[in-house]
Amino acid sequence: MRRFKSDILILGSGGAGLFAALHAHAADPSLSIAIAVKGLLGKCGCTRMVQGGYNVALAPGDSVERHFMDTIEGGKWLPDQDLAWTLVNGAVERVHELENELGCFFDRNPDGTVHQKAFAGQTFDRTVHKGDLTGIEIINRLSEQVWSRGIARLEEHRALEFILTADGSALAAVLLVDMRTGEYVLAEAKAVLLATGGGPTMYRYHTPSGDKSCDGLAMALAAGLPLRDMEMVQFHPTGLLAGPHTRMTGTVLEEGLRGAGGYLLDGAGVRFMQKVDPRAERATRDIVSRAIDAEMRAGRTTPHGGVWLSMAHLGADNVRRQFKGMVERCADCGFDLAGDRVEVVPTAHYMMGGVEFAADCTTALPGLFVAGEDSGGVHGANRLGGNGVANSTVFGAIAGDAMAAWVAREGAFRAADAAAIQAALDRAEAPFGGGQHADLDAIRERLFATMWDDAGIVRDARGLERADATLEALADELGAYALPAGARERAFNLSWHDWLNLGSLVAVSRAIVAAAAARCESRGAHFRSDHPDTGDLTASAYMRVQRRQGELAVEAVPVRFTRVRPGQSLLSTPG
Ligand SMILES: Cc1cc2nc3c(=O)[nH]c(=O)nc-3n(C[C@H](O)[C@H](O)[C@H](O)COP(=O)(O)OP(=O)(O)OC[C@H]3O[C@@H](n4cnc5c(N)ncnc54)[C@H](O)[C@@H]3O)c2cc1C
Repeated sequence: MRRFKSDILILGSGGAGLFAALHAHAADPSLSIAIAVKGLLGKCGCTRMVQGGYNVALAPGDSVERHFMDTIEGGKWLPDQDLAWTLVNGAVERVHELENELGCFFDRNPDGTVHQKAFAGQTFDRTVHKGDLTGIEIINRLSEQVWSRGIARLEEHRALEFILTADGSALAAVLLVDMRTGEYVLAEAKAVLLATGGGPTMYRYHTPSGDKSCDGLAMALAAGLPLRDMEMVQFHPTGLLAGPHTRMTGTVLEEGLRGAGGYLLDGAGVRFMQKVDPRAERATRDIVSRAIDAEMRAGRTTPHGGVWLSMAHLGADNVRRQFKGMVERCADCGFDLAGDRVEVVPTAHYMMGGVEFAADCTTALPGLFVAGEDSGGVHGANRLGGNGVANSTVFGAIAGDAMAAWVAREGAFRAADAAAIQAALDRAEAPFGGGQHADLDAIRERLFATMWDDAGIVRDARGLERADATLEALADELGAYALPAGARERAFNLSWHDWLNLGSLVAVSRAIVAAAAARCESRGAHFRSDHPDTGDLTASAYMRVQRRQGELAVEAVPVRFTRVRPGQSLLSTPG
C-alpha cells in the first residue's frame, strides 16, 4: 500500500471539488492540496453535463429573497433555510467570479447584460447559461485554473473508505485504490472534502455520468454519518428513449425545451399535461414526471414505452438555433428534435438527499467537509432546475475557504487506526478470495427493476417492503461474490470496480427505501399513492438515516424555520 500526504484532500472534481481546490489555494497558496478522482479531471462527473444553466438573481426586478422563496417553496418547506439562504447569496458572488476571474463567458442579451432564461418552478427568468451545454464552459475554465496552480491530481483513483483515528473521534485518512494498477493508497490529510456528487444511477433510466455510483454517500453511511432527505430523488421528465442497446437512453433533454413551449404527447399524439396542471408542460419536474408515469402505466405509450416530446410547432430553424446541443444529441441517435418528435421517458436525475452539514460545510465528523450533490438539506423535497450547479459551486467555494481556515486553526495529521485500515482492505479484497461467481449484470438489472418499480416515481408501503427485501438479498449476493479465475488482474479490473459500484448503489438504495417507507405523506419528489396528502407544512420534518450497530435507523427531525414560516414570505409582493 502506497502512502500519500497532503494538507487537504478533495474527493471528486466536479463543480464542488474544483471550486474547493481553487478557494483553498487562494486562501493559503502554501497548502498542499490534492484532488483524488475516479475519472480524469475535467472529463468526469455531472457538472460537465450541466445543460440548462445556473440560477442566480442578477436581473433588475429579481432578488435573492425571490430566489430564496422559490427554493423554499419548490422544496416544500423541507430545505434548511440557512443553507438555502447561503445558496442564493453565494450564487451571485460565484457567477461574478466565474465570469470575471475564472474566464467563463455566458450568453448575452443584445445590450451586453447576461441572458437569463426561464426554468420551471421559478417566478423569474434567472438561469444563466452558455447555449444549452453550460457545464462544459464551467468545467473547462475551472480545470484550466486548477492545472495552472500545481494542485496535485490523483486521477483514476477511487475513494473506498474513510479511516478514522483509533478512538473514532476524527477523520485521519481515506483509503483509495489506483484504478490503473490496482494498488491501494492511504491518503492522509488534515482536512478532507467529500464531493463525489451523489447521482441516482440505481434506477433503470438515469442521467448522471457513468463514474457516479453514490460511493461518497455509501462511505458516509459506513462511517456512521447522518444522511437526510434520502427519499427525495428527482426524476427529470424528459430522458431520451433511444432503445435498450445504447447508453444514450436516459440522458436528459433539457428543461428549457418545455420552458420554450415544447409539447408532451401521449402515444396517440394527444397533449395530456393541461389536464394535470394549469402550467401544463411548464409544471415542476415532479408533477410532469408523475403525469408521464401515469400515461406509461395506462399503456398510452410510444413504440419504446415512453411519450413524445414535440418541438416542431415552434419552427425547426428556431429550435435548431436555441437548442443546438440538444438537436445534435438527438441527431447522433438518429432523431430529428427540431422538425419531428422524439421519444422520452422520466429519468432519475438528482438526489436532494445527502450528508447533513452546516453552512460552513462541516459535518459531524471533525476533519470531514462536504459540498455539492453529496450534501443534503439545501433543496429539501425538490431541487429547482439550475440550483444544482449553483449548489456545488457555492458550497465548494465555502468548503475551500473553511478547510484552509481549519488547517490553519487546528489541522494536524492524525494517526489512522491500523485495524480500521486492515478491515477496509479486507472488504475491498473480498472478491479476490473464495466465494461464488455471480453475474453482476444480472444483479444490476434486478437493482434497476426494483428501484424503478418499487421505489421510483410513485411508491407505496408494499412496494417499499418488496424493495427492502430484494435489496437485502442483493447485498448478500454481492457479499458472497468472487471474481472468476480469469479476471483477477488488478489493473483496470472492470469487474472488481463494477462490484464496488454495485455495493455502493445497493447500500444507498437501502437508505432511500428506508427513508421513503418512513415518510407517510407525499411531498415534492416523494409521492406515496397510499399517502397522497402533503401533510402539515408547519410540522415539517426531514428524515435522518444513519447506520447504528450495523442497522439503518430512521428518525424524523423537525425543520427549523429560521427565516420564514409556511404561509409567510420574504417578499412584499409574493410571486
Ligand atoms: C445531464 C445532466 C444535466 C444537468 N443539468 C443541470 C443544469 O442545467 N443546471 C443545474 O443546476 N444542474 C444540472 N445538473 C445537476 C448538476 O450537474 C449537479 O447538481 C452538480 O454538477 C453536481 O456537482 P458535484 O461537484 O457535486 O458533482 P459532480 O460534478 O458529479 O462531480 C463528482 C466527482 O466525483 C468523482 N467521484 C465519484 N465517485 C468517486 C470516488 N469513489 N472516488 C473519487 N472520486 C469520485 C467523479 O468522478 C466526479 O469527478 C445536471 C445533471 C446532469 C446529470
